[in-house]
Amino acid sequence: MSPSILFVTNVDGDPDPENTPPNNPLVLEKYRTMKQIVDDHAGGKGAFCLQTSPMYRRRFFEAPFVEFWRAWTAGGGELTLHPEEDLYCLPQDKHPTGTHYQDGERMRRVIEDAVATLAQLGLAFSAYKNGYHAQMPAIVDSFKAAGIGIDLSCAPGLYWPEKLTDWRKAPLSAFYMSRARLGEQASADEADPVFQIPFGWDGQPSETPRRLLDTHYLVNEFSTHEAMARVWDEIVRRAERQDRPQIVSLLCHTYTMADPIYRDRLKQTLDYIVRHGGEPVAPSEAKARFDSWR
Ligand SMILES: [Zn+2]
Repeated sequence: MSPSILFVTNVDGDPDPENTPPNNPLVLEKYRTMKQIVDDHAGGKGAFCLQTSPMYRRRFFEAPFVEFWRAWTAGGGELTLHPEEDLYCLPQDKHPTGTHYQDGERMRRVIEDAVATLAQLGLAFSAYKNGYHAQMPAIVDSFKAAGIGIDLSCAPGLYWPEKLTDWRKAPLSAFYMSRARLGEQASADEADPVFQIPFGWDGQPSETPRRLLDTHYLVNEFSTHEAMARVWDEIVRRAERQDRPQIVSLLCHTYTMADPIYRDRLKQTLDYIVRHGGEPVAPSEAKARFDSWR
């Protein structure tokens, strides 16, 4: 029997464009479009990022979005806490030299506030994702302490030190991550490590000048259907070669959902993945299945 290959549809719900006044109906329409696609093509299973940011600290924890989160979770989806501390920041609030993710104390407050605010609505985050695929031990400590055990920030192969992105040694399938050696597998004696689900990758270096996500990754906006199908085929071959199950995520963004090119690309790619052995899961199910294999 072929090894299982699970995938999480990893939806980034950042509103775009960033610098225009909030238009909730327009953003909500894109969210609904995304939900319909995930319902129809991935069984409603996936992780939807709920943004908190200097610009929109509470916007997505209020009406009209709360009802959307209820519908999303009722349909089998889960929620990801997504602090966008740099991208969604007015010029005067920007970090002067680096990134706000460096500030462990700030991030602890952001995470605790978001988790408590969502809990008041009777909802909970099951996963966490930073912008820029950044990660820091202090951030991991804070979301773990707030009850979130799964991270979706890992972009294997990427190295962007100014943004705290270093996944050069990351495994290509889900793993328990070391706190001391962030981005690497935890040793057997590490207590309660975080479960990391990386973006699907074919193992080839990114060809963009900054080595960011491109056609070598499962990423709807920076690739094509053909390239994502090719990456998926490589993940299937890897599962067979290693005779080991694989768990990866496919990153997609709601801000493109008004454009039929991106909608069709996502539908076509999800269909391809499901036709070629991929099983859609939400993050908690991915973790439970991984644990059952150990
Ligand atoms: Zn984002």
